Amino acid sequence: MTLANQEVYFSEKEQTFDSIILYMDLDAFFAAVEMRENPELSDVPLVVGGNPKTKQGVVSTCNYEARKYGIHSGMPINQALQLCPHLTMIRGSFKLYNEVSKSIMKILEYYSPTMKVAGNDEAYLDLTEVVSDYEEARTLAVELKDDIYATERLTCSIGIAPTKILAKIASETDKPDGLVIVKPLEIADFMNPLKITIIPGVGKKSAELFSKDKIFTCGDLAKFPYQLIHQKFGKYGLKTWKLVRGYNTEKTEDKFLNSERKSISEERTFFERYKTWEEMWIQIDSTIDTIIARMKVKHMSYKTITLKIRFKNFETYTRAHSLSSYNTSEKHVRTVVQKLLEEFENKKPEDIRLVGVKISNLRKIDNSQKTLTQFF
Ligand SMILES: [Mg+2]
Repeated sequence: MTLANQEVYFSEKEQTFDSIILYMDLDAFFAAVEMRENPELSDVPLVVGGNPKTKQGVVSTCNYEARKYGIHSGMPINQALQLCPHLTMIRGSFKLYNEVSKSIMKILEYYSPTMKVAGNDEAYLDLTEVVSDYEEARTLAVELKDDIYATERLTCSIGIAPTKILAKIASETDKPDGLVIVKPLEIADFMNPLKITIIPGVGKKSAELFSKDKIFTCGDLAKFPYQLIHQKFGKYGLKTWKLVRGYNTEKTEDKFLNSERKSISEERTFFERYKTWEEMWIQIDSTIDTIIARMKVKHMSYKTITLKIRFKNFETYTRAHSLSSYNTSEKHVRTVVQKLLEEFENKKPEDIRLVGVKISNLRKIDNSQKTLTQFF
């Protein structure tokens, strides 16, 4: 096979695993909200959806108690009742679910400026520019889960991986209240034992087709030569083959709407201890000076400002704030960083080991904008 032919099958870009994506899915969302509002419902099998009087309609969400009977979303209510005659049915308070959903999305926004809402109970966060590795991503995810629980008394399951699909699959393998991380080198170990139907788009029919070639798990498919898969199952088969290998098959345009990989950042590790916040601020301020200088040289404007703080026990916090429009103001960076710092006021500055400041969501200033900046 020539190199030119090989390119038909996959590109190098599909095999880069340098993004860190977090996927969050609330556990049994509607049912969980009902249980929170009415604790008596906590231990009974419960479904939201359908008409409790006529016993018609379908299950919209059910709690984990109901799932024990084999009930699942999308199941006709009368079938659910056959499986569990003492099932509690609720029509649903959709206005309340909406409010809760909005509140949770607001929390998520705080953790990364690059986010994609996928439904009322699920969203993706691009953490690539927010954390420096998977350990930091784990710390962030734990904080995020705590934050959601503290605010809305709801649990969620989180998956973190180099692509959106992997992150989603990861979250599905440990529910409820799970946190599963799949690092680039762990993709094969993670995917291979999973049933092929875990891949979005692989339903009963496709599974049956695959089973004729003794393909039951993702590992079974991954082992197949891609040329053969392409021959037998066409484009769709090849795409599935790529997905079980964790390749990033997404077109760039549907990745993240506002994703922008460029950033300018500066971190300082302190070997000296600063006893007061005034002394600490002098250090942070000079970090900002460096960033601003680099931004000016590159003729950039920014939208997002991130503060990172690590304490001597290695607890790390990342806090970001996005402005509504692109900006070149030096003052804004200082004001935002100061505001983000307020959260740590009750901690001792001498316990701080590292401080980092970053501006991201950068855009080149074109000439017309440059003239504007000169005016102000
Ligand atoms: Mg959910």
